Amino acid sequence: MNRVGFTTTIPLEVIIAAGKKPVDLNNVFITSKDSHRLTEEAEIAGFPRNICGWIKGIYAVMIESGIKEMVAVTEGDCSYTKALMEVLSLQGITIAPFAYPHDRDATSLRFEIEKLMRHFGVTWEEVREAKARLDGIRGKVREIDRLTWEENLVSGQENHYFQVATSDMNGDPDRFEAEVDDFLQKVRSRPPFKDRLRLAYIGVPPIFDGLYPFLESHGARVVFNETQRQFAMPYLLPDLVEQYRSYTYPYDIFHRLSDILPETERRRVDAVIHYVQSFCFRQIEDMIIRKKLPLPVLTLEGDKPSPLDARTKIRIEGFLEMLAERR
Ligand code: SF4
Repeated sequence: MNRVGFTTTIPLEVIIAAGKKPVDLNNVFITSKDSHRLTEEAEIAGFPRNICGWIKGIYAVMIESGIKEMVAVTEGDCSYTKALMEVLSLQGITIAPFAYPHDRDATSLRFEIEKLMRHFGVTWEEVREAKARLDGIRGKVREIDRLTWEENLVSGQENHYFQVATSDMNGDPDRFEAEVDDFLQKVRSRPPFKDRLRLAYIGVPPIFDGLYPFLESHGARVVFNETQRQFAMPYLLPDLVEQYRSYTYPYDIFHRLSDILPETERRRVDAVIHYVQSFCFRQIEDMIIRKKLPLPVLTLEGDKPSPLDARTKIRIEGFLEMLAERR
């Protein structure tokens, strides 16, 4: 089966309808045992040091994996993607650009989806069939999310994993669904977590390892993973265009806040961890987040794949102590 790489969540239904194997390049990069080496390979190839680690990782994964086709999100994701696309096209990789319209205009978004459908030679009927298949799995992942915050049965890391994996269904929807079913069956018989603090994690997924277990070892569990939950298309809307209009990640921070604010309240969150990536334009949005959220916010910055460093651990411990004292 031909593999199609992509740089962030795209209308996965189109790739599935085309009978291709979807590969979220971010997931391959961050779960690789060699993720640190991959960023170094990109630097050796010429990527500047002061460029986001995810971009370097995606580049190196594309080169090493031998994937020949890729969808690049040119609007609504990352300001570096256009240059990445140009560099990869020089290596003979076929690139299909996809843009989320900044104003969330339904006509423009439909146009973009149909352009992608033409590229992969699929019809609306095939795409709707793929959506029904994927929504079945997404519904089960939504249940994992509910069990996280409502019944306290799921760890922050598990919540992160299952939601983030929906971006490409780990390349094989049937196998992924079996994994989800198995987890759902096991998790219900666990004793619930007894946390001192309930946290929200907002921002792009962390590039460093071990954040969730470290928090849990200090009595604080993440019960809301903002972006990961968005990858899982949590609203289960019947219309595909509306689904990708409601998806918050590619649009402005105010649209994201319209999801973050009610969810942190519904999930009885005590405080927020805002993760920012070194050299990412999204760091600027931290100013707005701090102004708009009525909760304490700890901003953490990551650069390259690595275990949680000592400085970050000390900052987290200080934040959690402060929260515990306030209580
Ligand atoms: S973290 Fe920021 S700079 Fe890096 S790939 Fe994502 S959007 Fe781009």
